[in-house]
Amino acid sequence: MRDYDVVVVGARAAGAATAMLLARQGLRVLLVDRDRYGSDTLSTHALMRGSVLLLSQWGLLERIVAAGTPAIRQTRFHYGADMMTVTLKPTMGVEALFAPRRTVLDSVLVDAAAAAGAEVRFGVTVTGLLRDRASRVTGIVGHDRTGATVTAESWLTVGADGTKSAVASQAGAATVRVGTAAGAIVYGYWSELAVDGYEWFYRPGHSAGMIPTNDGDVCVFAGVPAAKFAKVMRGDLDDTYRHMLEAATGGAGGRLAAARPPHRLRTWVGRPGFIRQAHGAGWVLVGDAGFFLDPLSTHGITDALRDAELLARSVADTGRSDDLGSALARFAGDRDSVAGSLFGIVERIASYGWDVAELKRSLLELSSVMSEEVELIAAARGLRVPS
Ligand SMILES: Cc1cc2nc3c(=O)[nH]c(=O)nc-3n(C[C@H](O)[C@H](O)[C@H](O)COP(=O)(O)OP(=O)(O)OC[C@H]3O[C@@H](n4cnc5c(N)ncnc54)[C@H](O)[C@@H]3O)c2cc1C
Repeated sequence: MRDYDVVVVGARAAGAATAMLLARQGLRVLLVDRDRYGSDTLSTHALMRGSVLLLSQWGLLERIVAAGTPAIRQTRFHYGADMMTVTLKPTMGVEALFAPRRTVLDSVLVDAAAAAGAEVRFGVTVTGLLRDRASRVTGIVGHDRTGATVTAESWLTVGADGTKSAVASQAGAATVRVGTAAGAIVYGYWSELAVDGYEWFYRPGHSAGMIPTNDGDVCVFAGVPAAKFAKVMRGDLDDTYRHMLEAATGGAGGRLAAARPPHRLRTWVGRPGFIRQAHGAGWVLVGDAGFFLDPLSTHGITDALRDAELLARSVADTGRSDDLGSALARFAGDRDSVAGSLFGIVERIASYGWDVAELKRSLLELSSVMSEEVELIAAARGLRVPS
């Protein structure tokens, strides 16, 4: 049994960033994950403005760039044969977007957490929470890879353990909102594919995206409504993916035919979005553990990093004091202001029940909420948002 200020469960976008920020404040932090250091996860990885701003503010963007992650300066929206290009306006020191592989991003965050003084333990699965007599959460219990019991006490336990969060279920976090829309996605890494920035493709009932990433590769996903995935599945996943891509992109002007296709494909069968109660006595949820959006939003990593920043800011003001509850409530209020706005918009986009005019309106709304999110982050960090 060891004693910490904060135990963070889950060492990826939300958890590693939270551990880093709290350790930088001088707190004694334990960061645990059942997975391995540097492992991949089921996720594409397009970062939006808020997360790139945060990586830059935290002093980590240069490590992402040094890993060979290409700068993304424009986004192309293809609506059938129509195309619109949006060029990124440099703001607050962010001149480009980036889409690092999760093997790169998550490792950079974990290394930064360790460098800030957090104790990092991989191969630890959390199975339960410790509680005091008043039922306040006071730490974690779990086991390592040898089966040995691991326990750690803390005044705050952070659940950053993804959609199936053990911390959320053990703490009894209520689900306050559940969506109905869900998309299925198949993706893989192409080489020698000519792209210039992010490219999103939309046709009724279909979507696709091209995301330039490390090692000269382009992550290419194809999506359909989850309820239709079984129907489009043709026995062979490769064949299914090709048909989904063709339906969404029309072959992307011959670019796919000229490129080298992936060796391996990954499939996400979909699940509806949700918002969970963000905190309770001695516990708080960040990232997907607390709030999940359909991946078509390409916003989950940005949510995770924003949560880490807002939680660390709130806790910095109070620490262990009696005001911890109000600090967590402040974090929850900020999270819910963004989550509430994003939720309905992403529900509409992920429903695939749109025509092009409706979809364009939803994407504009999404962009406007992302601008508000950048303002929230800027305010938290005392940055001036250029008018
Ligand atoms: C197909 C797909 C595509 C996506 N594309 C994008 C995109 O382009 N851009 C974007 O921003 N987002 C995208 N997302 C969303 C993004 O992947 C998530 O929002 C993001 O990973 C959330 O980070 P997190 O740290 O909250 O959780 P996770 O990344 O899920 O990490 C949770 C960690 O907790 C650990 N853990 C879980 N349970 C336990 C336990 N009991 N004990 C110990 N450790 C535990 C896990 O091992 C894991 O490492 C996509 C998601 C999917 C599924």
